[in-house]
Amino acid sequence: MNHPAPPAVARRPFPAELLDTLRTTFGDRVSNSEAVRAHHGRDESMFDPQLPDAVVFARSTEDVQAAVRLCAQYGVPIIPYGNGSSLEGHLLAVQGGVSIDLSEMNRVLSINAEDLTVTVEPGISRKQLNEALRDTGLFFPIDPGADASIGGMSATRASGTNAVRYGTMRENVLGLTAVLADGRVIKTGSRARKSSAGYDLTRLFVGSEGTLGVITGITLRLYPQPEAVSAAVCTFHSMADAVRTVIETIQIGVPVARVEFIDSLAVRALNRHSNLTLREAPTLFFEFHGTAAGVEEQAQLVQEIAAQNGGDGFEWATRPEDRTRLWNARHNALFAMLQLRPGSRALSTDVCVPISRLAECVVETEADLKTSPLTCPIVGHVGDGNFHVCMLVDPTKPEEIEEAERLNHRIVKRALAMDGTCTGEHGVGLHKMGFLVEEHGVDTVDTMRAIKRALDPHNLMNPGKIFSWAV
Ligand SMILES: Cc1cc2nc3c(=O)[nH]c(=O)nc-3n(C[C@H](O)[C@H](O)[C@H](O)COP(=O)(O)OP(=O)(O)OC[C@H]3O[C@@H](n4cnc5c(N)ncnc54)[C@H](O)[C@@H]3O)c2cc1C
Repeated sequence: MNHPAPPAVARRPFPAELLDTLRTTFGDRVSNSEAVRAHHGRDESMFDPQLPDAVVFARSTEDVQAAVRLCAQYGVPIIPYGNGSSLEGHLLAVQGGVSIDLSEMNRVLSINAEDLTVTVEPGISRKQLNEALRDTGLFFPIDPGADASIGGMSATRASGTNAVRYGTMRENVLGLTAVLADGRVIKTGSRARKSSAGYDLTRLFVGSEGTLGVITGITLRLYPQPEAVSAAVCTFHSMADAVRTVIETIQIGVPVARVEFIDSLAVRALNRHSNLTLREAPTLFFEFHGTAAGVEEQAQLVQEIAAQNGGDGFEWATRPEDRTRLWNARHNALFAMLQLRPGSRALSTDVCVPISRLAECVVETEADLKTSPLTCPIVGHVGDGNFHVCMLVDPTKPEEIEEAERLNHRIVKRALAMDGTCTGEHGVGLHKMGFLVEEHGVDTVDTMRAIKRALDPHNLMNPGKIFSWAV
């Protein structure tokens, strides 16, 4: 047993006739084998898998449209599937249904280098996209730790280490194509940098977690590769000193490209997992982008701030391969932290607070975690006020899962009391559903529900996620 999902509404019937019709339409691109269904009914959360009844591998918007129309005809749920790296139970087929796997829709449709935009299919991963952009001098900066798909990243409004400088998927999706629950195809936005033309449906779909439609095309903003890049590591005597350095850096407007916090425990995990030799202390990883002079000026300012907060000097990663090693280690932090307790699973949480409250929030959280018997390293995209606590539990011990949920509850409550959010980037899925009303209020969640009901009146699209269908 890992973690039971919240009480599921009964699975809906899956008619044999639908499977036959899907087979006639998609041939061997539909599967109901146990292994394929098991792969698609789980994510990287603690929840036990809940399997879809079948999986369709789509290759075009028309394929998605055909699959959605058939499911709609039989009243069967549809769960879009990107790369399966989500962390909050997003992909579990709590009411059964058909998983639409978009990984074969992974083409770059057009690169408009002069406009700094690219249009892609949803299944392309962030690394595949940057590989395709390599010779253009441009890059796409959003980098969740996993090599997630651009469709999944749009659907979860993802971000990563670069968001402090380049924003999240919210700022970087300019427009998209989506198949609605009844099979209609809509296009939102354009390649223009801005628009006042009607409701912003792009932003409505970004973060909708598969509950409003299947995204089949995405136009993204791109950025020129910076002329100069430098990265550095700095250690501190306390977590509070490290976080104060970040707050002051942001408040005086230094345009850092990345600033990541790693606590002593997480540093130990990274050292072991990625063969690094960092000092086991609260640590900040920095990266600066710009012209050579600009980068030097930013680095100088941040070093002064760090020194005033007791930072132990800067260790520079000047060669590109050293930087890559550092950031790969950071991106693999979750897997490294799991190795602190072999056999454990991670219940992670990712609150975000206004930057002015960050030190208070992190320090109170650290004190709270020290009273718990669980091992709980902290890492964070702190430049955004976002940090993750990774609670390592023995999945065979319900009392440990209960303790992790108790801690999660307290961490979220603390963030909400500081005018923050229950999730900065991982999304709501199943796990954070219970916090939505407290964060937004009844009327706001009701407004979300009204939108869902208007676009998906039979509750077919990834049902049972974000908020309950019934009030
Ligand atoms: C090691 C690790 C590190 C991570 N680090 C970060 C991080 O730094 N920042 C961050 O934001 N997240 C992070 N995550 C979480 C995860 O990578 C993101 O949530 C990511 O955006 C999920 O993308 P995916 O392609 O894996 O989507 P999936 O997990 O396949 O799907 C996620 C959700 O999006 C929906 N969906 C997928 N594709 C579509 C589509 N085309 N149309 C409509 N809905 C769709 C699904 O139905 C589901 O609800 C991390 C995860 C891991 C395992």
